Amino acid sequence: MGEVSVAPLPTVALHDRFARELGEMAVAWQAEPAPQPRLLALNAPLAEQLRLDPDWLRSAQGLRFLVGNAVPEGARPVAQAYSGHQFGGFVPRLGDGRALLLGELVDADGRLRDLHLKGAGRTPFARGGDGLAAVGPMLREHLISEAMHALGIPTTRSLAVVATGRPVQRETVLPGAVLARVASSHLRVGSFQYAAATGNLELLRRLADHAIARHHPEAAQADHPYRALLEAVIAVQASLVSRWMLVGFVHGVMNTDNMTISGETIDYGPCAFLDAFDPATVYSSIDHGGRYAYGNQPVVAEWNLARLAEALLPLLHDDVEQAVALATESLGGFRPQYAAAWSAGLRAKLGLPDGLDGAVAGPLAEDLLRQLEQSHVDHTSLFRVLAGAARGNAEPARGLFLDLPAFDAWTERWRALAPDPDAMDRVNPIYVPRNHLVEEALTAATGGDLAPMEALLQAVRQPYAQRPGLERYAEPAPRDFGDYRTFCGT
Ligand code: AMP
Ligand code: MG
Repeated sequence: MGEVSVAPLPTVALHDRFARELGEMAVAWQAEPAPQPRLLALNAPLAEQLRLDPDWLRSAQGLRFLVGNAVPEGARPVAQAYSGHQFGGFVPRLGDGRALLLGELVDADGRLRDLHLKGAGRTPFARGGDGLAAVGPMLREHLISEAMHALGIPTTRSLAVVATGRPVQRETVLPGAVLARVASSHLRVGSFQYAAATGNLELLRRLADHAIARHHPEAAQADHPYRALLEAVIAVQASLVSRWMLVGFVHGVMNTDNMTISGETIDYGPCAFLDAFDPATVYSSIDHGGRYAYGNQPVVAEWNLARLAEALLPLLHDDVEQAVALATESLGGFRPQYAAAWSAGLRAKLGLPDGLDGAVAGPLAEDLLRQLEQSHVDHTSLFRVLAGAARGNAEPARGLFLDLPAFDAWTERWRALAPDPDAMDRVNPIYVPRNHLVEEALTAATGGDLAPMEALLQAVRQPYAQRPGLERYAEPAPRDFGDYRTFCGT
């Protein structure tokens, strides 16, 4: 562990609610010393929202705080225990192998937010891992989580990325970094699986109560609070995954330890945004079977929620059969909620009014998606080009499709419904972190040049507002970019 100085840092009040309430799932631990901390990215607006002074965070002591080497008085950093189904196989003891929960902060709105470090050294959960993270993957999380936030999609946030000055051995030697991440909590489906697997019913109940208090307080008023908790998680996840699907986001590693109870997107590893629309798209180099392909995400979410329901069974009813019946009934809510969110989202992407008959809008949208797949159309730019078609300029859209008669027939049906192009531009992003741009930015950053990353951040932080000079950020990947693969962010 090395020596760690505990300096009083009066500007930071870190709470230890998780560690206090759920001690069985928290191992007190400290970060490895970073030899030469250097700031690579700081999210100043987020810092201010957390009532942290950005100038102080940039100072030498601030950097030591951001890598876990200067721990404020009263804080109690812990590695969290959790289980997880990884690619369908259950691992009872995963936990934070290279991460620490520094503690919780009360933000400017009075909300409790976790401050968590990723890449802070080996913990008792590290198994074979080195506990470290490389600059590229941590900046990738910074970039993509900021883009998701700007798109209005619930997500953990990145407060800062600090290079440690420690080399990390991967395929090659890479510079190391620590990501300081903020979340409404780090409770996951895997946290419940862990508590359930201990057989300690009192712990499971305490975890559920903690989750209700922090994320779904309305469940406490329900006739059956634990069932209400399950249904609340089902609801937020149905909504979240529909948002991913509408924007073409592929998470890449939807293991149950990477699915939150809060409904925030978490753990940006091998994630990516679709280029050409194709439900079979897989970017992760380790997802050989395509389990976490773009088009599978709703089904996988439902599968993960079934694992949450299983973990909660002892709290649903004393009688197992009745507990299973209740859980099954609650899980039945996922598909209709997902379908409703997806159809409403597609309708909005097509500029059609809320009240439009689903029997008209649904088949219209599905027909368009079939044509996108057939013609390998770039998912993000299509909807902006279609807004142009709604304004009367159909040629750019026509140029994207192979089967012109089919597209023309579709356009005629759609335009007869009077789509609103301005409404389309408000929900269809023009700038997303496209794979070729992310690669370009991270390669430059790993080599020491942060300018391309900062430029890309500028673009994706206002995803809907078309701005002059950003044309290349709106363009599809060059044809030779080809078969993109992401690596597991380690
Ligand atoms: P992930 O797929 O990133 O969500 O990680 C899955 C599990 O592997 C978690 O328990 C992580 O803490 C652990 N892990 C990932 N990378 C490392 C590493 N380099 N060292 C130690 N543990 C790791
Ligand atoms: Mg994870």
